[in-house]
Amino acid sequence: MLGGIHFFAGASTSIFLTNNYLLAPIIGIVSHHLLDRLPHLDLNIMQPPNDHLSTANMKVKLFVFGELVILTLFTLMLTIEYFNSSLVHLTIAILGGLGGIAPDVFTILFKEKLKKFKVFKAYFDFHKNFHFKLKEKKLKYCFLPILTEIIVLIASFALIDIAASFILTH
Ligand SMILES: [Zn+2]
Repeated sequence: MLGGIHFFAGASTSIFLTNNYLLAPIIGIVSHHLLDRLPHLDLNIMQPPNDHLSTANMKVKLFVFGELVILTLFTLMLTIEYFNSSLVHLTIAILGGLGGIAPDVFTILFKEKLKKFKVFKAYFDFHKNFHFKLKEKKLKYCFLPILTEIIVLIASFALIDIAASFILTH
């Protein structure tokens, strides 16, 4: 799943489930690993050498980074709009969203340095193995993976909408 979708899903799930600042990033991290299980599209569709961010070409990097920036801003604007600029909800969205992208950021930045430590190696292995694998790297097999991303987007939107209406009626 792309970074921005992980941020959006982490933020919306946190907003839906809690207003506790400690729980929000944990919910974000859990949402990340659960979403990784679904058939989805991310760099796994790219052929080597573009299947890893560090070796990806400029276009791929721009797309990955752009998607993250756009959906992060969208998430924050949506939260401000839906919750009348409530600082608590904005903070929960940011903490949940950061939790949502934390596993990938952590893995991309620190895997090489930390994999010699058993405990981190175990986590990196878990992250890799508890993850859907796209067997055929061909575009015609991407319908379901793309559909999953769209469904997660809509579900994230719905969670924020439901959470906001719940507050209004209570
Ligand atoms: Zn991941």
